[in-house]
Amino acid sequence: MTDDADTAENAEPAAPADVSLASQLLTLQRIDTEADQLAVRRKRLPERDDLATRTDQMTAWEKRRTQLVQRLAELATVIESAEAANAELTSHRQRLEAQMKTVIAPREAEALMHEIETINVKRDELDDKELAALEEQAALDDDLTAHLGTEESLRTALRSSDEALARVCDDIDAELAGLVDQRIAALEPLDSNVTSHYDAVRSAVGVAVAELKGHRCEGCHLDLSAAEVDTAKEEAAESGYTDCPQCGRLLIV
Ligand SMILES: [Zn+2]
Repeated sequence: MTDDADTAENAEPAAPADVSLASQLLTLQRIDTEADQLAVRRKRLPERDDLATRTDQMTAWEKRRTQLVQRLAELATVIESAEAANAELTSHRQRLEAQMKTVIAPREAEALMHEIETINVKRDELDDKELAALEEQAALDDDLTAHLGTEESLRTALRSSDEALARVCDDIDAELAGLVDQRIAALEPLDSNVTSHYDAVRSAVGVAVAELKGHRCEGCHLDLSAAEVDTAKEEAAESGYTDCPQCGRLLIV
């Protein structure tokens, strides 16, 4: 590595290209790493889980309300039709009872008695059915009232979860937008060959730039041989960076 203190002091044209390129690449890598981390954080926010839980709760609440309302409607129909059928049986029985007063033949009277008895059995069955429906209706009415009583707090919780997630996402998006600006500025001084190489390595291995610490590439954590280190140093002195012979990352020496 070359020291650029003298050039800065004497306002010489530029710092040596290798130092400058190395730090430019590291800056670009830092920006991309930050952006990647933010993107992962944005996906895995606890606020997102919280919102999913609240949404599930609300969906379950709505499903239960629908079930209650539907069952109450069914029961209303059951009660209504039981009452209608009962009224019909009653008037039928009244007609038969009137007939009973006019018949003389015992067999005819017996047949009428039997018919009236059958009607009475049917009426009893209908009464039992209606009573059961009325009892269920009363219980479900209470359930529905209690259920509707929990709606507001659930909706409030859902809304606040939604707002909390939106707030965190807005903050992250603002940070990401800042990084986009920083990236444009970081790319500006770089040669297009370097940036396309950087982009290719980045899409292959994620983190494209690594530093050589001793004999070890900090990207793949593998040691380079002494000969490879020498070659890497020579190449880096010439072009500002080299390629890790193990992982292909842009290696800053
Ligand atoms: Zn490597």
